Amino acid sequence: MAIFKVPDIEETVKCTSSLFCKYFQSNPSICSYAPGRVNLIGEHTDYNDGFVLPMALPMVTVIVGEKNNSQKCCIITSCPSADDPKEIKFSLPVPGIESTILKPEKPMWANYIKGVMQNFKGNLIGFNAVISTTVPVGGGLSSSAALEVASYNFLEALNIEDSSVGLIEKALACQKAEHEFLNMPCGIMDQFISLMGKNDHALLLDCRSLEYELIKVRDLEVTVLITNTNVKHKLAESQYSNRKKQCEIAATLVGKLSLRDVSLEDLQIHQESLGEEIYRRAVHVVGEIKRTRDAAEALKQENYVKFGNLMTESHASLRDNYEVSCPELDIVVNAALEIDGVYGSRMTGGGFGGCTVTLLKTDAITNTMENIKMKYKNPTFYVCRPGDGAKAIRF
Ligand code: ADP
Repeated sequence: MAIFKVPDIEETVKCTSSLFCKYFQSNPSICSYAPGRVNLIGEHTDYNDGFVLPMALPMVTVIVGEKNNSQKCCIITSCPSADDPKEIKFSLPVPGIESTILKPEKPMWANYIKGVMQNFKGNLIGFNAVISTTVPVGGGLSSSAALEVASYNFLEALNIEDSSVGLIEKALACQKAEHEFLNMPCGIMDQFISLMGKNDHALLLDCRSLEYELIKVRDLEVTVLITNTNVKHKLAESQYSNRKKQCEIAATLVGKLSLRDVSLEDLQIHQESLGEEIYRRAVHVVGEIKRTRDAAEALKQENYVKFGNLMTESHASLRDNYEVSCPELDIVVNAALEIDGVYGSRMTGGGFGGCTVTLLKTDAITNTMENIKMKYKNPTFYVCRPGDGAKAIRF
């Protein structure tokens, strides 16, 4: 069975450093790493000013490197699924000279780093770097935010003067990078949890005020199983923007700033003017914001049965109201739910492929994976506890 054994961060740093030595014939002096994330509940709520409840993963993106005493950057990624070329060289922007500003261009993967450089609050210094990752790329576990956050911390560690900014400011700079350089109107969750995650804790985030609360996941008898369907349907990006627009329309029609301010009663009153489809989209978001707050309470009370039920309700709403699931995700969720000891299961991430997240008793893991494997041809499994947030170290 394809269970992904998550390598130690230390092991990943060692391998990445060896690659750096091979390419640049010297040892790196800086290492920065940032985790991917799984969202336990609160899907498509972040860009509606709502609540989300993610946890950081033990899978990380690692950048090692050193300054090269030039005005150039040379970056290599070891990630097989990044677009070619895997090695890029470019000049630093010169302050005050418009024509040298970094712009998005091919290869796409480098735009995450260039976008962060463009939004970095400090001096940019020429560097050589090698990147590797144990986060599955393109699977909805936010390898992209992990790359942005690792890049920001890497740039910060390159600076001799302390140029560090607050974690929230950092998350916002990374989000802006994705808006500007990838044209992806993402919310703040992914960058936030990658920076703020804590071992054995989930994080309830209010995406409007950016207030957050770490909630301890105490019970070692409870585990999170992530199942990657290993499919990603083309619809994902265009439908994300489409759903975001539909939510804005719904809020405007109800006369509110965002769906965060809207109740189910408001939606019922305006059902006719919203129209059938936009009504369903809004019902998902308004319901999901409430489910997420309820789930956070259930987690604090260690009421996993309630938490699991809310996860399963979330999936049904994403499938039927928001229509961002797909047959592969539905098969995997249904297969998990057939097993005793499974509290709940849902798709996680934007949808149209990617991963499911299942909360279950630790002793139900094998049966659950076997049942999923029987019903779905090509899953990859990750058995996870909540991991730590991003770090940077000088060797
Ligand atoms: P995810 O859910 O994994 O964030 P996205 O499709 O949003 O999925 O982002 C994946 C993209 O991020 C990749 O196609 C690649 O361009 C970039 N990426 C992520 N990790 C790396 C890495 N380690 N090296 C190079 N590019 C990466």
